[in-house]
Amino acid sequence: MKIVVQKFGGTSVATQQRREMVANKVIESMEKGLSPVVVVSAIGRKGDPYATDTLLSLVNNSESHLDRREIDLLLSCGEIISGVVMGETLEKRGYRVKVLTGGQAGIITNNNYGDAEILRVETEKIKKMLEEGIIPIVTGFQGMNSDGDFTTLGRGASDLTGAVLGEALKAEYIEIYTDVDGIMTADPRIVPDASVIDKISYNEVFQFAEQGAKVIHPRAVEYAMRGNIPLYIKNTMSNSPGTIITTARVNSNRIITGIAHMSNRTQVNITFNENDPHEDNNDLFTMLAENNISIDLINVFPSHKVFTIDGKDTEKVKELLKRINANYTLIYNCSKIALIGNGMRGVPGVMAKILQTLNNNNIKVLQTADSHNTIWCLVKEEDTIKAINSLHKIFGL
Ligand code: ADP
Ligand code: MG
Repeated sequence: MKIVVQKFGGTSVATQQRREMVANKVIESMEKGLSPVVVVSAIGRKGDPYATDTLLSLVNNSESHLDRREIDLLLSCGEIISGVVMGETLEKRGYRVKVLTGGQAGIITNNNYGDAEILRVETEKIKKMLEEGIIPIVTGFQGMNSDGDFTTLGRGASDLTGAVLGEALKAEYIEIYTDVDGIMTADPRIVPDASVIDKISYNEVFQFAEQGAKVIHPRAVEYAMRGNIPLYIKNTMSNSPGTIITTARVNSNRIITGIAHMSNRTQVNITFNENDPHEDNNDLFTMLAENNISIDLINVFPSHKVFTIDGKDTEKVKELLKRINANYTLIYNCSKIALIGNGMRGVPGVMAKILQTLNNNNIKVLQTADSHNTIWCLVKEEDTIKAINSLHKIFGL
């Protein structure tokens, strides 16, 4: 039995017309002699009646003290609705289906509601259904803990459901269907002439996802890589070949493969008196870690430290800095732009080219950092679109 896991995102299942297109993709797999396992997200996006954000808004107000357990139960409804509606579409086309919640599909997690970790996947039930010619439709984004409670796996985690099932079922490949033609050189909403990358390595795409390209969940890439299962990103609404992600080294003469970004970052700048041994704030980073604040783009100098945090942590960090009497300044509303590419390894002058391009466009660079395959630049949020478009152009993407 050759299994394929096909995951369909919220926009792919948003209307009956699109659900028919989803059915076409599933039926095509059956006709190729494959046994498809379908994973679905909740219908639509924010504002649509059964989208995750809409469900959350029903209870997420200042008076609500609902337990995270109950919130997970509520959020799980979106995918269940979507699964049943998708099931009906396939049933009408003459196929036998069975809709499974994450728990029923054997996805067992810990108790960390809202961001549960997958402990194991029990595949017997799905395998039995496949042997009987039934199409399992699994609700994405959710699992079940040892108490039998619903848990959710974190935002965007339907991709994770697809990848984890693909790995556990030793699928031939995993397909992630969405509303764009594949992984592109930049978010097409920001760079209208971004192009589709036909082939990319797991580690580059992981980096893309980690740095804010929403197109796939980073942990989904990890699972597929661990199982060495080819991963495709495709468009539900077209027949374009999409992007294939494999371990194969991708031969490209490009220095930069693509650009991603993360908005709502805050830059923290702390100064202290170099000559006062008690004032070097050495405990600062430990204190931030103990308070679950992740920091990045860290630069440490004898008399000051600079780093960035997620904007949502700003108030908490301010409180902590006041507690240790730190002398600090903040720059709100920053955007962290990441230029990613295995091709930049050992190539001199890439950072210089980036800085010159941004300078030529009157964009102030607040901070930079680099690793073997990524260069980061922190800019003000209002410069994001201009910065990404000018870099996209100068690197010939
Ligand atoms: P789904 O609901 O199908 O999971 P998402 O909204 O999570 O879809 O992801 C698809 C979106 O990711 C696209 O509509 C696109 O705007 C965005 N995106 C961001 N960066 C990229 C990129 N580099 N390539 C393709 N899409 C990207
Ligand atoms: Mg997604």
